[in-house]
Amino acid sequence: MELLKQRILKDGHVKAGNVLKVDNFLNHQMDVALFAEIGKEFKRRFAGCGVTKILTIEASGIGIACLTAEQFGVPVVFAKKSQSRNIDGEVFTTRVESFTHGRVYDIIVSKKFLSPGDRVLLIDDFLAKGSALNGLCQLVEDSGATLVGAGIVIEKGFQEGGELIRGRGVRVESLAIVDAMDPETGSVTFRD
Ligand code: 5GP
Repeated sequence: MELLKQRILKDGHVKAGNVLKVDNFLNHQMDVALFAEIGKEFKRRFAGCGVTKILTIEASGIGIACLTAEQFGVPVVFAKKSQSRNIDGEVFTTRVESFTHGRVYDIIVSKKFLSPGDRVLLIDDFLAKGSALNGLCQLVEDSGATLVGAGIVIEKGFQEGGELIRGRGVRVESLAIVDAMDPETGSVTFRD
């Protein structure tokens, strides 16, 4: 998605440790007009898939998921990060390792909000090592719902997440795939 790539080149900052900082338009300050365009692009790519629900993970996926859900006319469910998985058994839960914080935590979704009749599109801001997306795939599988695919804003193609999730047989659509980035020069190289 050209608009997104240009914005990354203009406002993104490459940090040490393979982190791309995009907090002035994506995951701290949010450019809602850009989110609306992102939502339209996901709608175009997953049109005709019969999506009934968008699933994301708190916190930075929520804004994008909402603007995408508006396009599909369906609700958003966000997996909550939890200190303990013991919430009376009425939840689907799995374990996720945070790429940016290096912590392991449980994510939960109430069983009320995912059912076997659902056709779920996963949305997230980044795909790095794939732990967050893998956790979301697991929750969908546990619920018996159908996983339509995953829409990712920025995939870091030099990390293993894309291969891991596509290897699970999941359709992953990334709007920008970064193949290389250099903290010394600040350069970002996109796949084609
Ligand atoms: P993964 O589980 O794929 O390793 O990492 C995905 C999560 O880590 C995303 O939800 C995102 O919040 C965060 N993340 C991973 N890489 C980056 C990055 O380069 N920049 C930022 N801002 N967040 C990242």
